[in-house]
Amino acid sequence: MNTSANATPHITLIGAGLAGALLATLLARAGWRVDVYEKRGDPRLKGYQGGRSINLALAERGRHALRLAGADEAVMAQAVMMRGRMVHFLDGRTDLQRYGRDDSEVIWSVHRGELNLILLQIAQDAGANLHFHRGLSGVDFDARIARFRDDRDGSEHEVAFDSLVGADGAGSALRAAMGEVADLGERTEFLGHSYKELEIPPARDGGFSIEPNALHIWPRGRYMCIALPNDERTFTVTLFLPNQGDPSFETIRDGADARALFQRDFADALPLIPELERDFERNPAGLLATLYLERWHLDDRAVLLGDAAHAMVPFHGQGMNCAFEDCVALAERLLAGGDRGDAFAAFQRQRLPSARAIQAMALENYLEMRDRVDDDDYLLQRALERELAQRHPERFMPRYAMVTFHRMPYEVAFDRGQRQRELLVELTRGHDSLDSLDWDAVDATVRARLDPLPADA
Ligand SMILES: Cc1cc2nc3c(=O)[nH]c(=O)nc-3n(C[C@H](O)[C@H](O)[C@H](O)COP(=O)(O)OP(=O)(O)OC[C@H]3O[C@@H](n4cnc5c(N)ncnc54)[C@H](O)[C@@H]3O)c2cc1C
Repeated sequence: MNTSANATPHITLIGAGLAGALLATLLARAGWRVDVYEKRGDPRLKGYQGGRSINLALAERGRHALRLAGADEAVMAQAVMMRGRMVHFLDGRTDLQRYGRDDSEVIWSVHRGELNLILLQIAQDAGANLHFHRGLSGVDFDARIARFRDDRDGSEHEVAFDSLVGADGAGSALRAAMGEVADLGERTEFLGHSYKELEIPPARDGGFSIEPNALHIWPRGRYMCIALPNDERTFTVTLFLPNQGDPSFETIRDGADARALFQRDFADALPLIPELERDFERNPAGLLATLYLERWHLDDRAVLLGDAAHAMVPFHGQGMNCAFEDCVALAERLLAGGDRGDAFAAFQRQRLPSARAIQAMALENYLEMRDRVDDDDYLLQRALERELAQRHPERFMPRYAMVTFHRMPYEVAFDRGQRQRELLVELTRGHDSLDSLDWDAVDATVRARLDPLPADA
């Protein structure tokens, strides 16, 4: 059965995670017939199966996509505002480094499980057919038949398709199936660092035990801890360590090692994490890697998006935001009509350079977060950056703001960011305070070197 015989277009999505559920909504709302196949059970029946409270930073790109899907209000009802980075120095001092100019430029901590539940419900309400316990196990691209396995009884199910969309995450089964029939130019670069999640419970009075409206960072050079607030008054702490060296996941092996590390390096966080040993020993260490593909689609038969196409390290908090932007871009191409193979090719042409740019910025941000946020040169450059953004709002915008509060293509933000950084290094060289700068010369340099920002900014 080829479903394209019907007048209403039909599409088959693999994965009902964040991107799958959002894309299903965008297409179903436009009148498409959408079937979504998800490996796991329906989280709305048993509660989110992830168990632990894991949160994500939601920024403007993601919010824009949620607005288009009619999901923004429901998601924002449980989001916690983060105004900036609260840096925790080794000596216990803290410093809030604002992300933006004011509370209109902030990011939001959202609960991954809750977000998924909201998106699934909205997708279903929009008319998408959700099929759970259907893990993609193989594809016959010539016959356009996808095979799914039910993890409860091992049964196999075959489904005819017009086109498949792989929203099945970093370990994508669809990508593997496509890779068997075409060279996708796949390459994975491991960071050599991993992470573990720990939890700060509510304070005795039921409130947050540290400042709730911030993303907390304990930068320690080669490694760091971060903590994001949850609406149930907890914080999810993520410890990032190298895989080898000292300290690393090789030397910090059990709860006692973790306690000793915290006593030495994260002393103010230690009393906040009463179950440190249990969390450390029970929670798995997650690997961090960047996935590069040269090719995201197989003519009109299959296309990849989100983590399946371009998994990245989490240090810009943009993986989901980027995946949501992919959904909007792909939906626009598909809804414009015309040949699907052309739509997939145009989607790849538009989004692959954007994905590469945010992947690179995410890697750079790791260095910045763990090593630079407490460094004097960096702080002076940041101070100048803030000043220039005020003096020349039409020309100078911090890269973080371009990525986080605006929707200009990531590659534009990357390119301008590089040029701005060169300027900041150049203008602060030999100075240890902004007071000694010649502002007329600074302003002239900015005007000469940076053209006005694109309109979308
Ligand atoms: C530690 C960490 C912190 C992060 N923090 C942030 C952040 O702050 N902000 C941000 O924007 N991003 C963040 N990210 C990235 C973000 O989690 C991902 O980019 C996002 O989840 C990608 O969405 P997705 O829908 O492509 O994949 P996923 O969310 O992984 O969804 C994939 C779905 O496919 C299903 N599936 C898998 N295999 C199959 C199969 N064979 N058949 C059918 N279904 C299948 C899965 O069960 C899942 O439901 C973080 C990531 C990590 C690891």
